[in-house]
Amino acid sequence: MFERILIANRGEIALRIIRAARELGCETVCVFSEADRGGPWLEQADRSVCIGRGPAADSYLRIDRIISAAETANADAIHPGYGFLSENAQFAEVCRDCNIEFIGPSPEAMALLGDKISCKRMAREAGTPIFPGSDDAIEDPNEAVEVAKSIGFPVIVKAAAGGGGRGMRIARNDEELVEGIASARQEAEAAFGNGAVYVEKFLEAARHVEVQCIGDKHGQAVHLYNRDCTSQRRHQKLIEEGPAPGVDAKIRDRVCNSASALIRNASYSGAATVEFLMDHEQHFYMLEVNTRVQVEHPVTELITGVDIVKESIRVAAGERLSISQDDVALRGHAIECRVNAEDPDRGFMPQPGLVEEFNIPGGFGVRVDTHVRPGYRIPPNYDSMIGKLIVHGRDRDEAIARMRSAIAEFKVGPIKTTLPLHARLLQAEPFVAHDFDIHWVERLLESPETAKS
Ligand code: ADP
Repeated sequence: MFERILIANRGEIALRIIRAARELGCETVCVFSEADRGGPWLEQADRSVCIGRGPAADSYLRIDRIISAAETANADAIHPGYGFLSENAQFAEVCRDCNIEFIGPSPEAMALLGDKISCKRMAREAGTPIFPGSDDAIEDPNEAVEVAKSIGFPVIVKAAAGGGGRGMRIARNDEELVEGIASARQEAEAAFGNGAVYVEKFLEAARHVEVQCIGDKHGQAVHLYNRDCTSQRRHQKLIEEGPAPGVDAKIRDRVCNSASALIRNASYSGAATVEFLMDHEQHFYMLEVNTRVQVEHPVTELITGVDIVKESIRVAAGERLSISQDDVALRGHAIECRVNAEDPDRGFMPQPGLVEEFNIPGGFGVRVDTHVRPGYRIPPNYDSMIGKLIVHGRDRDEAIARMRSAIAEFKVGPIKTTLPLHARLLQAEPFVAHDFDIHWVERLLESPETAKS
């Protein structure tokens, strides 16, 4: 096991990693920016090191400073958390060159699955369901028109190096397609330095269902079942739950096994999530693979009892997975609400500033992962998520009731949060009946009348 882990992240995920590391007997070193000086999570680390100014580009994204902090502190491993450098293959490579274990996949596996075209190719070989479309990068727009003719409009043009929704264009006819390829290529070239684009079928209304996987360095990989993350706004997930409701066990198991096969074939070690869209007939199509621990990992921890963060530290240290697929059993239902410091009544405007009141709920089946406490000042520089409220129940109905109760107990002030919106979503018919698609929250926000009915 590692002696000392450097955590190249902040906030709730830094705290989550500190806790896991401590249980494994590892010391922790946290890097922090000037904007995060005095952050409550830093008190829990054995040591903390300032690496620069508030903007992430001057601190949490500075590979050179993070590596020199790790070397100075004698850390033998780095955990990147999520966001920041977590999916940066170059960072993983620099860690390896410096003899520091990157807690995550090898740079090769990350690059292979991070490129959407090579990922799709691997998925096809592993039997993971994918969207029909072009097999390779589109060189000539006429090729794309041919593909669209065979699969039917609408189609979507996507960038191989895509991320954050950039380099994507929906096309409903030939002209839009030709124009979409040119503009997506340009955008991708500017954003990622890689203009490769491809075309696939566009699904109008679908649910977001993803499969949590974890692999080790000995060729083993298991899945930890699925989660539904259909409740989103502008592609930002608001509520996640697991297992995904309304998916037949047979289909679920087939898709989950195909996801772990993909991870295994990629010689992947660490936590990974294979994301899918699912249509009304429970057809699955892979979107992408996230090569890191995800915000919503606690949902899976509660329904499987597997500590994903500890397990990923163990496999990075070369240990075998402590579980086989047969050991993974589903128990009950879990729901997570992401609590963001944003004002839902004013266009989700971020709410940096002093948190005076922060009264978190508790009780049977309630978990809160947060770095915030009364007196904490939210800096304006980063993501506005200030905590995650996760509940577990025997079944979905109990989990919903428990979540409603926990939200009522959760008091934050004077800053505004998304908690009132969560309360509203948990009451809404589409959510209760899990009769929804990825646009349902936006529709509800646009038409308050339907929301109330
Ligand atoms: P990024 O890496 O940029 O986030 P994704 O492949 O994850 O790109 O896609 C982002 C979002 O775009 C998805 O969550 C989904 O809402 C939408 N999307 C992507 N591909 C399709 C598709 N083939 N059909 C319908 N929606 C899609």
